[in-house]
This record gives sequence, structure tokens and C-alpha cells, in this order.
Amino acid sequence: MAGIYIHIPFCKQKCHYCNFYTVISQKYRHDFIHVLLKELEQRKDYLGGQPINTIYLGGGTPSLLSVNEIVLLVDKIKSLFPVNEKAEITLEANPDDLTREKIESVKKNTPVNRLSIGVQSFHNEDLDYLNRVHDGAQAIKVIENSLHAGFNNITIDLIYGIPTLTEEKWLKNLALFFAFGIPHLSSYALTVEKKTVLHSLIAKNRMSAVDEEQTVRHFELLLKETNKHGFNHYEISNFAREGFYSKHNSIYWLGGHYLGVGPSAHSFNGSSRQWNVANMKQYMAFEQTGTAILEKEVLTKDQQFNEYVMTSLRTSWGCDTEHIENVFGSNYTRHFKEHITTFVNESRVLKNGSVYTLTNAGKLFADGIAAALFRS
Ligand code: SF4
Repeated sequence: MAGIYIHIPFCKQKCHYCNFYTVISQKYRHDFIHVLLKELEQRKDYLGGQPINTIYLGGGTPSLLSVNEIVLLVDKIKSLFPVNEKAEITLEANPDDLTREKIESVKKNTPVNRLSIGVQSFHNEDLDYLNRVHDGAQAIKVIENSLHAGFNNITIDLIYGIPTLTEEKWLKNLALFFAFGIPHLSSYALTVEKKTVLHSLIAKNRMSAVDEEQTVRHFELLLKETNKHGFNHYEISNFAREGFYSKHNSIYWLGGHYLGVGPSAHSFNGSSRQWNVANMKQYMAFEQTGTAILEKEVLTKDQQFNEYVMTSLRTSWGCDTEHIENVFGSNYTRHFKEHITTFVNESRVLKNGSVYTLTNAGKLFADGIAAALFRS
């Protein structure tokens, strides 16, 4: 399994909590696609001819692309890489960009077969807190229009733990999601990263701080409601009906290979991990130099082990000691077994043969449990 990620960094405004690499200026907007096409050409051998099962247009805001630009990018990928006929092709979209006409045109004129819509909340008060451009009515409209246009593989993002989001409002968000019959939900706790606007506004007492206990209550409601509606909790922040798991994100979680193109995009081909410069001006210089500016790191065995433990524990496939034994050897298996026992005894981790998965109680402490299992 291999995938290609394209990072479209443009956004209309910066959301307060966002720490992705994005730009508000449209200065490079016109020439950007041509630079992406060049980078794709230059890196066509990175995945060693593996079949491409997924293409993901992420950002930033890829829904700012015109239909012609989407077609240009996907056609270029198909001309350079062996793309599987049934490849999952996802477009991330913000509710304020997609008019009914645009959605219908994307459906009719491009090979995009999955939409990921950044709803975050259906309540305007929460959207204001997050500094999103769209409002709740636009979020509802875009989902209705996407379904009407014939997209059946849709996912939306919902954020919980927003200080303005009461439990009642959170349940309403979830009820609306279920009412649409959409097969996939990505739901994240609001985290206040350093260097974000939200971090500084909270520090200056201009915004309410996140209440950890409220976040936990929201997460518990999320688990209860998604389970009640027949969704599989297949990754800590992702819920899907059978057959609608995100194939692209599963590549990341299952250690598959991927090429990332565009400023700040990451790539991994089994031996090294590399990432493009997170700077638009430097990225655009590629036009003249013909060489992408990137940094590269070769992971140590301990780092590879830590990464496997962290990502696999977050999934329903779990962490497998047979895999650890085969890939890392008996020292690592012993280390893992020694350190996981406490969590099994505390019923935070479930052991089934050689596979360890988080229980619902453990999911609340996923990062802490993984960190306790790390090697350094
Ligand atoms: S739209 Fe998405 S990528 Fe852009 S600023 Fe908001 S959260 Fe960040």
C-alpha cells in the first residue's frame, strides 16, 4: 500500500488553534500548481514503482483549487505513478468554499471519490471561538449538497473540548452527523499548541482555557454515541462504518509508504523520513533550482520501535508482539512485555494472544501509555 499526499497551504484566514503550515497571502497562488507538478516529476521514483492506492489533497484548503487544477494534479500523478484503478482520491474541503455548482462539478469532472469536510462544529459560538470562516448553516448546506451530488464516501471533522461547547451542544453535533448518514467521522480533542493564536489569547485571558475534565466527558460521550450507531472506533480519533475506513490515513498508521508533495509535506519510503521546507518563498524557488528543499532523517531502531508502538496502539489493529519480535528482535519484545503488564493489570490495555489494544479506559491515556513503553 502506498499513497501520495499533496499539501495546498492556502487558507482564507488562520484558525486560532491551527499549527499546520498555511499561508493567507495569495501571492504565489497562480504559480504554485506548476511548482507542484515539477516536484511530482522530480520525485516520481521515490516510491520505487509501488502501486498507488490513495491520493490525498490536504492542507491548508485544497477546496480553493479550481476543478481544472484538481484534474491537472491527479492526471499528472496518474501519468507518473502506477495508480490503482480503484484508488481512494480524497479532497479536503472547507464549508465556505463549496457551492452546490462546485461540488457537482468536482463530482462530474474530477476523479475525486471522497470528501473530507472541515465542519468542526455546527454551532456558531464554537466556530467563532476557533476563528473558522464558515458558519453552522454553511456546514449543513455543504453536506446536503455533497450527498445530493452523489458523494457517498464522506467524512467530517468535529472538534470536542471547546470551552463554548456544552455537553448538550456536543450531543447535538453528533446527532446531526448521524442524521446525515455519513459513513466516517474524524473527531479530535481541542489541543492548545504552543505558538498558536489560541495559546497566546488564553495566556492573555482573552479566551477561556480548555477544561480537561470537560474534554474527557465529551470523549466518553463520543465513544458511547458512535458505538450506539454502529461505528467502528478504528483509530483514536477516527470512527467509520465497515468498508469506509480512511485508506490514506491507514497507510500512515500501518507503516505504509507515502510521498508528500508541497511545502511542509512529509514522505516515508521505509528507509528514510523526509519533509519539505515549511516556507512558501523557499519552496517556490524550486521553480528556478529544480530541487526541492527538504530535510531528511534516518530513523534509529529505537525511534522506529517507538513510532510503531505509538501509532499501532492508537488503532483497533493494536500492537503485535510477533511483529515486534520479527522486526526489532527479542530485546524489544521483552522490554514491551515488561512495561505493558501494568496497563493490562489496570484494564487500560487488553491482551488478545500476541496483540495488545487500548480499552476505552486506556484510550483516555493513549499518549501517556505509549510514552511509558518507549525505548531511548
Ligand atoms: S482551515 Fe484548516 S489548515 Fe486552514 S487555518 Fe484553519 S485549521 Fe488550519
